[in-house]
Amino acid sequence: MNSNEAIPCRTDPGPPPDSLSLVVPVYNEADTVGFFVDRVRAVFQGEPEIALEFVFVNDGSTDRTLEALLSLQKSEPRLRIVDLTRNFGKEAALTAGLKAARGRVVVPIDVDLQDPPEIVLEMIGKWREGYEVVVGRRINRDADSWAKRISANCFYWVHNRISDHEMPRNAGDFRLMDRRVIAALDELPESRRFMKGLFAWVGFRTAYVDYVRPARAAGTTKFNGWKLWNFALEGVTSFSTAPLRIWTYVGAAVAGSSFAFSLFILARVLIQGRDVPGYASLMVAVTFLGGLQLIGIGVLGEYLGRTYIEAKRRPVVLIRQIYEAGS
Ligand code: UDP
Ligand code: MG
Repeated sequence: MNSNEAIPCRTDPGPPPDSLSLVVPVYNEADTVGFFVDRVRAVFQGEPEIALEFVFVNDGSTDRTLEALLSLQKSEPRLRIVDLTRNFGKEAALTAGLKAARGRVVVPIDVDLQDPPEIVLEMIGKWREGYEVVVGRRINRDADSWAKRISANCFYWVHNRISDHEMPRNAGDFRLMDRRVIAALDELPESRRFMKGLFAWVGFRTAYVDYVRPARAAGTTKFNGWKLWNFALEGVTSFSTAPLRIWTYVGAAVAGSSFAFSLFILARVLIQGRDVPGYASLMVAVTFLGGLQLIGIGVLGEYLGRTYIEAKRRPVVLIRQIYEAGS
């Protein structure tokens, strides 16, 4: 090659400056997708300079969600559908949606209108000021049951105590992210993805906008208590090894006190002579230690399981087809 020849510069202009992708995971939401698209259209009607795209991820719905989306696509060319082969869960669906999104800024948003689309405009305002992440923060959780509120508080308390980086309280997946943030998330190799934790882990210049979270527009929640409990376990074990380390201290404390107790028994035998009764204390010690060991093994198993799953290096989701408008 002639050394005077100019080095070819990058011709790919990248995403247009004000393009926005809304990433919407949907699971059995045939009743809500129409409402959602109408509302978003109305909100962005007055913002012609923002090039909008909808990226719906159909997370293995068993109702007529896909049909509903395909029929919406006929009148909405900005709508794209990523159809997964089965239900992979919201975290995995989000991962697939973020990967498929093409916008300069990307916002994951729930289809049930609990994340109001108007707030996205406020987020874009902050992004234009130079923030790379704009997190939607709920200022009330009245729409949630008291059990969900209490358990969410406990979760954040435990998580933020034992994890190295703080996760903002009362913030869900609803947040604006710059293309740079999306690229950073894409670099993270883990296949079990606790998105809220990953979002917090990548950092970047972050701003917040507060909003009131309304109740679900239609349909029912897809998260029951057991699912949420597993989700919380996932969150804690994804970002902290403190639960593993605790057992060193618990073990040391129990071993230390049994040593002290044995000295006490020895002294008593020496002073008062041999003492046969002791069934109760024996049983207590045996069952207590047995329980402790089982918990310890459980915690080890939790991490070993995670390592096992990561070691398989399976893809996060499988995509059956991507439907573009007009295809
Ligand atoms: N969702 C999903 N896959 C699932 C469960 C839920 O894609 O396995 C989607 C769901 O369609 C909705 C969003 O995740 O768009 C939030 O779900 P939901 O409103 O049921 O959760 P909640 O607001 O009650 O926490
Ligand atoms: Mg909801």
